[in-house]
Amino acid sequence: MTNSGVRVRIAPSPTGEPHVGTAYTALFNYLFAKKMGGTFILRIEDTDATRSTPEFEQKVLDALKWCGLEWSEGPDVGGPYGPYRQSDRKDMYRPYVDALLEKGHAFRCFCTPQRLDEMRAAQRAANLPPKYDGHCLNLSAEEVTARVKAGEPHVVRMKIPTSGACTFTDGVYGDVEIPWDAVDMQVLLKADGMPTYHMANVVDDHLMKITHVARGEEWLASVPKHVLLYTYFGWDAPQFIHLPLMRNADKSKLSKRKNPTSISYYSALGFLPEALMNFLGLLFIQISEGEELMTMDQLIANFDPDNLSKSGAIFDLQKLEWLNGRWLREALDEEQFFALVLTWASESDRLREGLKLAQSRVGKLGDLPGLTSFLLSADVGVTGASFAGVKTPPEETLSILETVQVDLDKILEWNKDTIEAELRAIAERMGKKLKVVVPPLFIAMSGSQRSLPLFDSMAILGRAMVRQRLKLAAQAVAITIIKN
Ligand code: GLU
Repeated sequence: MTNSGVRVRIAPSPTGEPHVGTAYTALFNYLFAKKMGGTFILRIEDTDATRSTPEFEQKVLDALKWCGLEWSEGPDVGGPYGPYRQSDRKDMYRPYVDALLEKGHAFRCFCTPQRLDEMRAAQRAANLPPKYDGHCLNLSAEEVTARVKAGEPHVVRMKIPTSGACTFTDGVYGDVEIPWDAVDMQVLLKADGMPTYHMANVVDDHLMKITHVARGEEWLASVPKHVLLYTYFGWDAPQFIHLPLMRNADKSKLSKRKNPTSISYYSALGFLPEALMNFLGLLFIQISEGEELMTMDQLIANFDPDNLSKSGAIFDLQKLEWLNGRWLREALDEEQFFALVLTWASESDRLREGLKLAQSRVGKLGDLPGLTSFLLSADVGVTGASFAGVKTPPEETLSILETVQVDLDKILEWNKDTIEAELRAIAERMGKKLKVVVPPLFIAMSGSQRSLPLFDSMAILGRAMVRQRLKLAAQAVAITIIKN
């Protein structure tokens, strides 16, 4: 049933490993659409061309499908309001920017990056919040025309009222008031002709007839810019629903430095999508003890957007583990369990790839579990003692593990060749030979000094698992250092 007119979307930016926060927001929108008899849409927001990649876009689609959150309109399935990828819509935004310029709601800004840096430095020194100072706000029409004609690079910024406040009603936060004083003259069109997130987001939500915008709380402060754009265009704004950020149990912001946040990490570990959806769904609905195990249909039945859970969105790993265990033990019969194990082991081709690597080292088939188990294990049990055989002293081992953990994030496309190239570059930056950097990594990945080829193994394990193993290994070495 999709006839209520309710249209919601998930609008991920494909700039990194798909995050559990994206699954959380997507699930909310999905439940909302199902509950209201509406339509759930997927739009790719890739206006940040330097950070968006096709690989990450594919991963977002795969991850959300793995979660069971199918959309009715999107870049892969099309739909009446396409294209659903902002880079494919680039030319659609320009007339809207021109209309704002014409009506005097926006202005061209010729400030160089250097001037903006100086301006921000001065604001920091004076303890003022960073904000565009209006340098180009009142240039004469003649001057603007001349500078545009001369081909001077520039951006387009929106004008912001100089007094008063923006008021709006949010589905979670209620009545919100944000003074215009706190709102920046947002860039709408970048010098390269690409719209910014704010511009593209508002135009697309309007053109795609989105009725409710449900997204993370971090966007609440952007609402005044969006509301103002809707007003400038004379369009009705959608209803806003800002979801509380997911936090760690200690209330700190969920970040990959603290806990794995990639959906692919949880799928590789053998968490069931049903369990992850069950766990995330419970963050929205009020239930009594004993009712925790819920299918998607039960989540939909219990979902009530007017009565959202107030308990805060804690990403409680123990609870997720508990629910996952219950799903595995209670919700699957034997056949389903077998099928699931095989699907899991074969995910991303890792069983086949692992066996391929192991073939050249195998004496009898019974060696295979020992050779390949680290590719499937949740934990390879690395301790300080695991590093006893490496030649580098613990401090140096630690610095290798930590540097690699941070620098591997620079790889845009994750495969054996890019991993090898980045590790070579890291070794060079650290002034070390590759053969010095590699042994600690072998142990971090496999728990053993003798293992399958490193670069291939890291490619199979995937970015999120590699990051987590490097982190656990670094912790183990750090403990040894402190103890001695
Ligand atoms: N592209 C934004 C993000 O990645 C979407 C925010 C929104 O839903 O408006 O979070």
